[in-house]
Amino acid sequence: MIEVFDTCTGCGICVSRCPFGAIRIVEKRAQINEACTLCGACVKSCPFGAIEIKRKMVTPADVSSYRGIWVFAEEHGNHLRNVTLELLSEGRKLADKLGEPLAALLLGRNVTDFIKTLSAYGADKIYVTEHEVLERYNSDGYADVLTGLIVKHKPSVVLFGATINGRDLAPRIAARLRIGLTADCTGLEIDEEGRLVQIRPAFGGNIMASILSHTRPQMATVRPNVMKRGEPDWTREAEIERINVMIDPKAMRTRVVDIVKEVADRAVNIEEADIIVSGGRGLGSPENLKLMRELAEALGGAVGASRPIVDSGWLPHHQQVGQTGKTVSPKLYVAVGISGAIQHLVGMQTSDIIIAINKDSEAPIFKVATMGVIGDLFKIVPALIEELRNAKKENPTR
Ligand SMILES: Cc1cc2nc3c(=O)[nH]c(=O)nc-3n(C[C@H](O)[C@H](O)[C@H](O)COP(=O)(O)OP(=O)(O)OC[C@H]3O[C@@H](n4cnc5c(N)ncnc54)[C@H](O)[C@@H]3O)c2cc1C
Ligand code: SF4
Ligand code: SF4
Repeated sequence: MIEVFDTCTGCGICVSRCPFGAIRIVEKRAQINEACTLCGACVKSCPFGAIEIKRKMVTPADVSSYRGIWVFAEEHGNHLRNVTLELLSEGRKLADKLGEPLAALLLGRNVTDFIKTLSAYGADKIYVTEHEVLERYNSDGYADVLTGLIVKHKPSVVLFGATINGRDLAPRIAARLRIGLTADCTGLEIDEEGRLVQIRPAFGGNIMASILSHTRPQMATVRPNVMKRGEPDWTREAEIERINVMIDPKAMRTRVVDIVKEVADRAVNIEEADIIVSGGRGLGSPENLKLMRELAEALGGAVGASRPIVDSGWLPHHQQVGQTGKTVSPKLYVAVGISGAIQHLVGMQTSDIIIAINKDSEAPIFKVATMGVIGDLFKIVPALIEELRNAKKENPTR
C-alpha cells in the first residue's frame, strides 16, 4: 500500500521520478493512481518524507501466488553477456521442473535484436523496456523498472548474473522489496517442496551452503561460467510484452559518463576465453610468467593465475581464478605449478578439459585433472611450447 501524508507540499519532485506516470499534483498535493506498481522510486525522492509504502510480509499462504522464473538479460557492448544465456539454460530446467514459465527481462535502447537469442535459449516470455536513459546501465532507472515489474507480476524466482551490474542491481531491488538475496551462487536446484535451493561456497570455500529464502520472490545472483549454456533452438518464439516507461534523465541520481575498458586484450580476458593457461606459486618468480604468456600464445588462449601470483602483484586481480577471483569454464584449462586448493578449484573445475603440470604427484589438482604431467614445469612447459610452435609451422592453419 502507498500513502501520501499531509507533509506533502505539492512540489512535484516525485512526479518526474515515477517511471510509470502514476503521480499527478492535484490541489498542491501528490495523488497516486492505479498505474502505480509500488516500485518505490518516489519514496526516497521526496524531500519531505511524505510518501510511504507499506509492504506486506509474504505468508506461507501467499507463496503459491508467486509463479515463474525470471532472468535479467544483461547486455554489454552490443552483445548479451554469456551469463545471461547460462542462466536462461539453467532457468529452463528449473521452470520445467516446476511446470512454470521462464521469462527474460530485457532493458535498454534498440535491444529488439536480442529477442531471437533469448527465445532460442529458452525464454517463454520476454518483457522489453526501451528508453534512452536505459541505453547504458543506470542503477536508478533499472532498479525502478524491474522492481515495478516484479511487484506487478509476482515471479517466484528472479536471477541475475553476478557481474558488476548484476551485483549492483539485485541488492537494490531486494532492499526495496524487503526480501532476501543470495549472492554469488554456484548452483541452483528445486527441492521436493518446489523451493529454490541456492548453493554457494561458505566459510572460505570449505563447505557448500544450501540456502532457502522464506521471502518471495526468491532472488539470487549467479557467478558467470558455473552453469553450462544449453543448445539454442532457433525455432522457438517467445511471447513479447513491451513496457512503456517515462524516465526523466534529470531525476536519475547517477549517470554513466564514460566506460573505460580495462581489459582490451584477448590474452588477459579470462572470463570469455576458450583456452586458459594459469600459473601458480610453482613459477617461483615474476620473470617466469613469460613461460605462461608464450604457452598461452602458442595455444591461442589467455593467461590466468592463482591467488598468490595476484597477491604478490605479478598479475592484476582480473586474471585471478578462484573463489575470490573469476570463475571460468573454458574448453581447456592448463594449471601450471598450482597445487589445487579448494579456493582455486571452485573457480575452474567446470572446465571441459583440465591439464595439470606439477612436480608433486600428491597435489590435489590431479584429482580434478583430465590429464596430469608430473615433473618440473621449467622442463615441461618449454618443451610443450616448442612442440606447439613446430606443429604450427608444419600446419599454419591450425
Ligand atoms: C578466503 C580465501 C580465498 C581464496 N581465494 C583464492 C582464489 O580465488 N584463487 C586461488 O587460487 N587461491 C585462493 N586462495 C588461496 C588458496 O587457499 C591457496 O593458498 C592458493 O590457491 C595456492 O596457490 P598455488 O597453488 O599457486 O600455490 P601453492 O599451494 O604454494 O602450490 C604451488 C604448487 O607448485 C608446485 N611446484 C613448485 N615448483 C614446481 C616446479 N618447478 N614444477 C612443477 N610444479 C611445481 C608445487 O608442487 C605446488 O603444488 C584463497 C584462500 C582463502 C583463505
Ligand atoms: S515530492 Fe513529496 S512533497 Fe513533493 S509532491 Fe511529491 S510527495 Fe509531495
Ligand atoms: S510507480 Fe513507483 S514511483 Fe510511481 S507512484 Fe508508484 S511507487 Fe511511486
